[in-house]
Amino acid sequence: MTRTGAWILLFILAVVGGVWWLASRSGPVTEVTAEPASAKSASAAPARLPPSPYAPSRASGLIIPVNGVWQAGLTDTWGDARGDGTREHHAIDIMAPKGTAVVAAAAGTVEKIFESQNGGHTVYVRRTDPAWVDYYAHLDAYAPNLKEGQKLGQGDLIGAVGSTGDASEEAPHLHYEIKRMGPGDKWWQGTEVNPYPLLAR
Ligand SMILES: [Zn+2]
Repeated sequence: MTRTGAWILLFILAVVGGVWWLASRSGPVTEVTAEPASAKSASAAPARLPPSPYAPSRASGLIIPVNGVWQAGLTDTWGDARGDGTREHHAIDIMAPKGTAVVAAAAGTVEKIFESQNGGHTVYVRRTDPAWVDYYAHLDAYAPNLKEGQKLGQGDLIGAVGSTGDASEEAPHLHYEIKRMGPGDKWWQGTEVNPYPLLAR
């Protein structure tokens, strides 16, 4: 091998070595910064998702109070037997993965945050028209800083879908109830109305 040839070989080895060193150094660094960031936002997202983007029902003006659920994804569960057949279901159960955002179906004021044996973590919202109360149950968690007396706009975050109370751990869902309130009725009173036709059309 000539002297020039040896220098060229050395030069090539140096370039290849340098590129390898740079790649091995910068490769993992970009991965480390990129991957946990996206993984973190994905796992932290459910309770803080933006309001449901779907248009309000033309029948009622309500929006479906579970983020990502379409009208076609609803099932009418009004009148189903509950509590070993001793009770009738006067609400709609909206199935969704645990942690999915629960949002206000209508604007109103948080009237009561209540720990219920059957309902688990629950929230009662008195609508702007005080003749109506919306009841949200089996929540996995409340929205951060949610408190009684707080005003909510339609689509504002209430909490996350869960299985607290007497709901099955295998079938997390929002139990959503609409109550027609008589004059002076308190949060635990009122008469339930089937939410299904008011959400599905
Ligand atoms: Zn239910």
